[in-house]
Amino acid sequence: MIPNLPAAQILERLLAHESLYHNLRYSDIQRFFELTYRLWPEILGTDTSRPLSLPAPVCDLLASVLQLDTSLIQLTWHAFGDIAEAAYNGPPQPSVDNIFRIHGRTQKLGAEPLRPPITSCLKCQHGLGKESIVEGRLYTLHRGILPIFSKSLYCRPYQQLDEIDEELLTALNHVPWN
Ligand SMILES: [Zn+2]
Repeated sequence: MIPNLPAAQILERLLAHESLYHNLRYSDIQRFFELTYRLWPEILGTDTSRPLSLPAPVCDLLASVLQLDTSLIQLTWHAFGDIAEAAYNGPPQPSVDNIFRIHGRTQKLGAEPLRPPITSCLKCQHGLGKESIVEGRLYTLHRGILPIFSKSLYCRPYQQLDEIDEELLTALNHVPWN
């Protein structure tokens, strides 16, 4: 869960707390929001509004995960608790897979990039060029049906030899991925 707000607001709050500004990494802040989002019912407990400080078990877990002192975790909560609360109560953000389901098709970018593991021709070592893209579906156990675009690369010099039989050309130049 990445809060939906301008980066400048995060920076402003870091600048307001010097020890956070010097000790938190970007990944710590991101992890902090992910974990407080997941643990929100534990944070709230029987209260109806956001507590002033994090419950000890939650604070200790964050301190252990982020390898930061518990006082820094509580200060992070003090600085970012309202953002964490807004993120929890706000509309859910689409998963990365859903982003590709919605936006990937126009740019032919799939939820998993399928490209050949090599960049030069296995026959002549020439750099592979022209892309051939085949749209497909990847059926997964836990992520549902993913849109994919399987990309094959062709060797340019061979493609220019018209006299070579088309089938042979394909066999020689087509570097299959799957
Ligand atoms: Zn080649």
